[in-house]
Amino acid sequence: MSQIDALPPLRDVIARHDLRAKKALGQNFLLDLNLTARIARAAGDLAGSDVIEVGPGPGGLTRGLLAEGARKVLAIEKDPRCAPALAEIAAAYPGRLQVLMGDALKIDPLDHLSPPIRIVANLPYNVGTELLIRWLTPPEWPPFWASLTLMFQKEVAERIVAKPGSKAYGRLALLAQWRADARIVLTLPPGAFTPPPKVDSAVVHLTALPEPRYPAPAGTLERVIAAAFNQRRKMLRASLRGIDPAIESRLERLGIPPTARAEEVDLRHFCLLASDLG
Ligand code: SAM
Repeated sequence: MSQIDALPPLRDVIARHDLRAKKALGQNFLLDLNLTARIARAAGDLAGSDVIEVGPGPGGLTRGLLAEGARKVLAIEKDPRCAPALAEIAAAYPGRLQVLMGDALKIDPLDHLSPPIRIVANLPYNVGTELLIRWLTPPEWPPFWASLTLMFQKEVAERIVAKPGSKAYGRLALLAQWRADARIVLTLPPGAFTPPPKVDSAVVHLTALPEPRYPAPAGTLERVIAAAFNQRRKMLRASLRGIDPAIESRLERLGIPPTARAEEVDLRHFCLLASDLG
C-alpha cells in the first residue's frame, strides 16, 4: 500500500466507518492509492485547477487528486455513510476539500468553483453515462469544464472513442468527438476494485475543444444522430425519412450515399447534413 499521504490505508477507513459496498449505489471502490494518484495525474494540470469529483465514496480518488496538487476538490457523494471518512480527508487538507452530500444528477456545483474546472469521477455506469451526455450537450460551447476524466465499463469507454465502421461507433462517439478530444488513458481489470465488478473498466479523458470540430446546429445534429442510430441496420434513406421526407436527394447532394448505414458515416458528414437541415 502506498504512502501518498499521512492518512490511514483505505481498508482501515472502510472497516472503521463500516463502509460495506452497496450494490444499489454501484459501489466498487479503488483501494490502491498509487492507482488513484495515477488516475489523478491523467486528469491533467491539477495544481492550477478546481476539480469536481463525483462519487468520492471512501475517498481513494479524492486523496489521489489532493496529493497530486489539485487547487480545490469539490466532491459530491450520495451515500451519507461516507461523510465521516470524507471529513477526515478535508481535515488533512485544510481549505482544499469541500464535500456536498447529495445526488450529482440534481446538484449544480458551479457556484463554488473558479475555472479552469476539471471533472473526475469513478461512477456507476448509468449515472456516468447520463452525466457525460449532459456535460457534452450544454446550451453553450465551450462548456464550464476544461476536461473530463471518467471511469466506465471498458465497453462504454470504447463506445466513446470509437471510429466509423466499428460496432462500438454510435451516438456516444459522435457526441463526444464533435466537441472534445477523447482517449482511453487506462484500462483496469475487475481485481483493481473492491468488490470486483464483472467486467473490465477503462478511464476516458476528454478535453473540451474551444469550438466544435465542424459547425452544425447542436439540436439538429443530436436529432439526426439519434434517428440514424436508433435504426442502425437500416439505410439512411429509410432511418432519416422521418426527419426529412426528401432525405434521399438531400443526402445525394451532400455526397452521402443514401444507401449507407449510420455506422459508415463519419462525424464530418453528419455535421454537413445537420447544417444543411438547419
Ligand atoms: N470514487 C470512489 C472510488 O474510486 O473508490 C468510489 C467509486 S464507486 C464506483 C461510485 C461512488 O459513487 C459511490 O461512492 C456511490 O455512493 C457514489 N454515487 C452513486 N450514485 C451517485 C450519485 N447519483 N451522485 C453522487 N454519488 C453517487
